[in-house]
Amino acid sequence: MKSFLVDLTRCTACRGCQVACKQWNKLPATETSNWGSHQNPKELNPDTYKLVRFEERIIEEKLHWLFFPEQCRHCVDPPCKAVGDGYAEGAVIQDPDTGAVYYTDLSKDIDTDDPEELCPYNIPRRNPETGIWSKCNMCNDRVKNGLKPACVQVCPTGTMEFGDREDILELAQKRLETVKKEFPKAQLINEDTVNVIYLVGYDPAEYYEYLMADAGSISPRLFHRRQMFAGLRRMRQTG
Ligand code: SF4
Ligand code: SF4
Ligand code: SF4
Repeated sequence: MKSFLVDLTRCTACRGCQVACKQWNKLPATETSNWGSHQNPKELNPDTYKLVRFEERIIEEKLHWLFFPEQCRHCVDPPCKAVGDGYAEGAVIQDPDTGAVYYTDLSKDIDTDDPEELCPYNIPRRNPETGIWSKCNMCNDRVKNGLKPACVQVCPTGTMEFGDREDILELAQKRLETVKKEFPKAQLINEDTVNVIYLVGYDPAEYYEYLMADAGSISPRLFHRRQMFAGLRRMRQTG
């Protein structure tokens, strides 16, 4: 299984990762207008798998500009797969070698338009024309051929690292110890449950409301839906 380490204390918001993601995945540009922020586009969308978020915050009486290059966390036990498979087996795939989680064309049968019903991090987006859901795919085609994901490859500041999960977890702990000397509130985010591990210098809520979540939980509503669809599937199979 592969993991990323994303050290937000190093990110300069150059957006090289965002552009590289578009290039590798052959995703078209998104038409936008000025909404008073450098964050562009404003939100993730079916053609934008990676988005560098910008937040201005006053922390301990000083102004800080916080940057958060956001992408799917490739959860170790992905809730979106549990929910998606309830609607259509194979709608969401997890590669057993790399841990990459990606959506297939069968995801058009997932009967909701709300990303939060699939994902505690509010990541996937649905194409309104095709109904197919999409998001970061870990550049699994590159990874399977021994390459780093495109976003990691281009990052000029060393914010992003990629490798075997055990090595990345070890690196994350070492980096945390170093970063804590300058950022006493530094912490790793959900490192036990995700494969995209963020290291933050400040309270995660300062960056973005969905930076931290509980990937191990599925809301009671989703759980019941999942049970209902599993029951229907069993009934169909037994005739
Ligand atoms: Fe930050 Fe690296 Fe992305 Fe630039 S390429 S925005 S430094 S993570
Ligand atoms: Fe699925 Fe969301 Fe986890 Fe990505 S972050 S694997 S979309 S549940
Ligand atoms: Fe985009 Fe690949 Fe990075 Fe995911 S891993 S954000 S698909 S470049």
